[in-house]
Amino acid sequence: MENSKQMRTWLDDMKLDHPLVIAGPCSAETEEQVLKIAHQLKDTDVNYYRAGIWKPRTRPGMFEGVGALGLKWLQKVKAETGMKTCTEVANAAHVKLALEHDVDLLWIGARSTVSPFIMQEIADALGETDKIVLVKNPVNPDLALWLGGIERLKTAGVKNLGAIHRGFSTYEKTKYRNIPEWQLAIEFQNRFPDLPLINDPSHITGNREMIFDVCQTALDLNFDGLMIETHFDPENAWSDAAQQVTPEKLVQIMRDLKIRKESDPEAEYNSDLSNLRAQIDVVDTQLIEMLGKRMKISDGIGALKKQKNVAVLQSNRWNQILGAMILEGESKGLSEEFVLKMFKAIHQESINHQEKVINS
Ligand code: PEP
Ligand code: MN
Repeated sequence: MENSKQMRTWLDDMKLDHPLVIAGPCSAETEEQVLKIAHQLKDTDVNYYRAGIWKPRTRPGMFEGVGALGLKWLQKVKAETGMKTCTEVANAAHVKLALEHDVDLLWIGARSTVSPFIMQEIADALGETDKIVLVKNPVNPDLALWLGGIERLKTAGVKNLGAIHRGFSTYEKTKYRNIPEWQLAIEFQNRFPDLPLINDPSHITGNREMIFDVCQTALDLNFDGLMIETHFDPENAWSDAAQQVTPEKLVQIMRDLKIRKESDPEAEYNSDLSNLRAQIDVVDTQLIEMLGKRMKISDGIGALKKQKNVAVLQSNRWNQILGAMILEGESKGLSEEFVLKMFKAIHQESINHQEKVINS
């Protein structure tokens, strides 16, 4: 397949028989909380224990993390449970402290990836580290910023890289906290096919009820792992309470997910097929979104025509659109017959929308 991995990476070296799992609370709150969750996750599929200690909060006055003190708690986690640990770093001082305290995996948050200055500062501080470093996508849907962040770390000499897809913020209200824009993650995979790519359903959904479905889509799209915020008392978490799951729920999610292995030809066929189907689902959702947008514009035109008392059907304009779209369709391998049929249906729906506005 186009995005099958060629080069061996830190993830291949782990020889896992399931996707990589990073889990733990959004924030380290107290030593007891950090240790309790770690003990609950110790004998599960979790590979890395996460806890944010420096928390980038959108508004001041919210809990901004326990700071460097939390690094001692993560060291205790490692000593008591043997789990590898990870946390977010957002500047050179964080990097220095995290490396000094032997954190195994560092991730760069979405609010840092947007800033080339910060990314460069972090890259310089990391230098030729052997630690695993994962770059979250920037908050805005800008692939170049994400790629640029990876390139800065590569150039600085970071050896064990990967990326985290955590969705993108949008002005429009959606069912997600951060819309997945899966096509951007697919594009990212095409640009860096050998880089492990982890999905973060917690920050995409903002809602624990939707986490399973996003995990399944991610696995169907060949993601290499999942980062899932986990807390023994999600409702009372000090940050991101709505999106955290309990350790029990995490285990259940991992058990229920269809994880496709690529070991035998039949499994490979099924995995390729579900990957392509997941890509089709992404495009179909976009088609519906675009059609919805088009109809909203039609409503606007309807309102204008109503003001001026103009007829809904303007044949000249319609013929122009059809001619242009048949040509455009040809260049994309679409038959004239199909383009005509599709635009007739779109046009009819558009007229219905305008009629509704004019007669309202
Ligand atoms: C987090 O992982 O807790 C976090 C702050 O994530 P993001 O950078 O994706 O918002
Ligand atoms: Mn969080």
